[in-house]
Amino acid sequence: MSNITAVLPTDPSGYWAVYDKISSVQIDLNTAEKLWAAWYQYMQNDVLATGITSFVMHETVYFGRCLPWMIIDYIPYFQKYKIQQGHRNTLKEQLTCAALVLLQHFTVELPQIWMFHPLTQYFGISISTPFPSWQTIAYQVAIFFVCEDAWHYWFHRAFHWGPLYRGVHKLHHKYSAPFGLAAEFASPIEVMALGFGSVGIPIVWCALTGNLHVITMYIWIILRLFQAIDAHSGYEFPWSLHHFLPFWAGAEHHDVHHEKFVGNYASSFRWWDYMLGTETDQVIAKMQAKKAASKKAL
Ligand SMILES: [Zn+2]
Ligand SMILES: [Zn+2]
Repeated sequence: MSNITAVLPTDPSGYWAVYDKISSVQIDLNTAEKLWAAWYQYMQNDVLATGITSFVMHETVYFGRCLPWMIIDYIPYFQKYKIQQGHRNTLKEQLTCAALVLLQHFTVELPQIWMFHPLTQYFGISISTPFPSWQTIAYQVAIFFVCEDAWHYWFHRAFHWGPLYRGVHKLHHKYSAPFGLAAEFASPIEVMALGFGSVGIPIVWCALTGNLHVITMYIWIILRLFQAIDAHSGYEFPWSLHHFLPFWAGAEHHDVHHEKFVGNYASSFRWWDYMLGTETDQVIAKMQAKKAASKKAL
């Protein structure tokens, strides 16, 4: 924090002094709310406060969630749960992928993240305390999951159209046996188009309802990151969520998309692929039938 203090006009009394001051005045706030309020008060620059929180949160959650998946690659007990048996991604391959994702975070995401606070202000997304109730957070996060899944389905399906696949989406399909770190390994165009489902949908929600807090957005984005990384993990367990929630997609659903390159286009749920006949098995069966018919015609 000392480097930041040296270059930014932060509160000279220091973060914890600001926290103590807020704690003594706003006694109704819980600890998380006091920490939050003290951060904005201490920074004295809301654009930077939101920007730093957003970027640090993304990096911590992304790489923090990937780490356990990298570790279990080296624990023999878990190898029986690997979806594509016999396929092992080397550490070198995973670190190269991580370096490219990190480079993109710093060159593409970081410049854009400074727009996030002005956007929250323009669309009326709250940064104030107290936070919304957990019921409000829960129903809004559920809505974002359903809407993002629909957005992802259609855009991902469009990205499998020849020219878009070759020009944009092919990069994400570099790894036919995915691993956690590969979740955000994609062209910047794809990251922005699919990322709108994660960031743009809550903003549109707030523009329509006027009811959204940044903390709800952070909780949603953390859960969405968990979903994306777990879907690329390459592991399927007897305790995986889709065994209890049959419509949850999970790793089994997306892993086969990477293995076969077609079908299973949705992100969190299975209903779009099921209803529209685009589950991987169905797409492959249709392709084979088409091929057999054209052979017959010859
Ligand atoms: Zn794809
Ligand atoms: Zn993928």
